[in-house]
Amino acid sequence: MKRVALLLGLLAAFVFSFAQPKDPPKGAKCVVCGMDVNMMPKFTSQLKLKDGKYVYTESPKHAIQYYLKNKDRVAELWVRDFSSGKWIDGRHAYYVPVDEGPMGPDIVAFRSLVEAKKFAKGKKVFKFRDIDAEFLKHLDMGHMH
Ligand SMILES: [Zn+2]
Repeated sequence: MKRVALLLGLLAAFVFSFAQPKDPPKGAKCVVCGMDVNMMPKFTSQLKLKDGKYVYTESPKHAIQYYLKNKDRVAELWVRDFSSGKWIDGRHAYYVPVDEGPMGPDIVAFRSLVEAKKFAKGKKVFKFRDIDAEFLKHLDMGHMH
């Protein structure tokens, strides 16, 4: 029985070591642009690297930009659900472009497609895989209308 308990303990430790976003410390700076990541908390995003380190960004735009440039180093990508403010897996979120993020035009993330569509009011809703370097370039130029 002891061995089973140990095994369960190990399993729990294994499960908990995955999928754990951390709240960014006060004064944390964006790994891409150096901006304070807590300026607009609903935009705050983070990535867990394969070496266990966490890096933060002030918005999903820069989190995905960082991801696209460092794909082999990134283990997890977390963004905040714009409705609830909760951390969600950025790779399974739905994204809607907005004009006013912490650094100009940006994207906000939703866990639910229904909520994303409601927020988008007829504009296009994007999936993670739709967002590439080209998308981000157009977003920054304000061409997402
Ligand atoms: Zn940034």
